[in-house]
Amino acid sequence: MVTTPLLPSDYLDLVSPLRAGADLRGRIEAVHPETGDAATIVIRPGRGWRGHTAGQYVRIGVDVDGVRLWRAYSITSPTDRQDGRVTITVKAIPDGKVSNHLVRRAKPGTLIQLDQATGDFVLPQAKPAKVLYLTAGSGITPVMGMLRDTEFDDVVMVHCAPQPQDVIFRSELHDLVADKKLRLTEVHTDTDGMLDIARLDELVPDWAERETWACGPAGLLDAAEEHWSKHGVQERLHTERFRPSIVVAGDGGEVTFSATGRTVDADGATPLLDVGEEAGVLMPSGCRMGICFGCITPLKAGAVRDLRTGEITEAEPGVLIQTCVSAAAGACDIER
Ligand SMILES: Cc1cc2nc3c(=O)[nH]c(=O)nc-3n(C[C@H](O)[C@H](O)[C@H](O)COP(=O)(O)OP(=O)(O)OC[C@H]3O[C@@H](n4cnc5c(N)ncnc54)[C@H](O)[C@@H]3O)c2cc1C
Repeated sequence: MVTTPLLPSDYLDLVSPLRAGADLRGRIEAVHPETGDAATIVIRPGRGWRGHTAGQYVRIGVDVDGVRLWRAYSITSPTDRQDGRVTITVKAIPDGKVSNHLVRRAKPGTLIQLDQATGDFVLPQAKPAKVLYLTAGSGITPVMGMLRDTEFDDVVMVHCAPQPQDVIFRSELHDLVADKKLRLTEVHTDTDGMLDIARLDELVPDWAERETWACGPAGLLDAAEEHWSKHGVQERLHTERFRPSIVVAGDGGEVTFSATGRTVDADGATPLLDVGEEAGVLMPSGCRMGICFGCITPLKAGAVRDLRTGEITEAEPGVLIQTCVSAAAGACDIER
């Protein structure tokens, strides 16, 4: 009665937001620039944090201009970091709401929401004899988490970035090279051009014998998957994508968000999550690439297309859709 309409926990949140039993949060304790457009964010997780496995990612909820937005970021700190803090490393992308906010505006002391770490882009229990890390741009982040966590006798990395100064963690990578803990090939795409996957024969002649972890843009990962399959060694390739591979787009339609009372026209290629957010509708979201199911929403009427497969889902009682990988397929009504 004393605290109505707030709950006692709302007051506790003010004095002890990271306490055990509270919703999981983290406090940004530092922001370290890495390159011109990337920064490492040091986060002190709340008491409920259960730790992570190298290579996993964490979903974070950040308030940007008064709107809570959720995004996934790979954890770049080792699992045994003594001070209990974790780091993520974010590359600002053009027009990116959360990435630009974190890289350019996030301040120490800011509270963010956290989920537990998750993801299966991880190292196996039994150490492989030879490892290859194939990365590009911000795709280096989960691999840096692995490099900082686990040493192997024979590790080769091929990393692509436009120019030397764009290589995130460059000086740390070169320290590992100097200590003979890593063999590194940097491909500077502004001068060398995009990596032709067939060049691996020359850069890493025994690539097919190596257990490989690859992370980067869709073009690189699609080429790698095709190359490994062609040589019959696809089970040695592990990939992590930061965006869904969108293969099918169709006709769009008029989308109604009936709970909010808003109707907009949408094309057949834009995920309904983006359509809703653009229209000012409060949309739940998660990984934004169809893996976490944090965005599922009832489809009240009409039909939607799964952008990864082209499959059409029609409204029926109880039908839920993943708005981050579904686009309008004609007029539809989304219960938000
Ligand atoms: C498992 C996982 C791990 C990830 N780890 C990292 C990480 O360690 N570091 C990191 O920087 N990012 C990482 N990401 C990507 C991150 O979650 C965001 O997608 C990214 O920061 C862009 O968010 P934004 O709000 O800035 O862009 P938005 O405002 O959502 O999008 C702005 C524009 O950029 C496009 N876009 C969205 N995402 C990308 C992208 N990744 N690349 C290019 N264009 C994009 C959109 O289509 C839109 O046109 C990861 C994603 C996943 C799924």
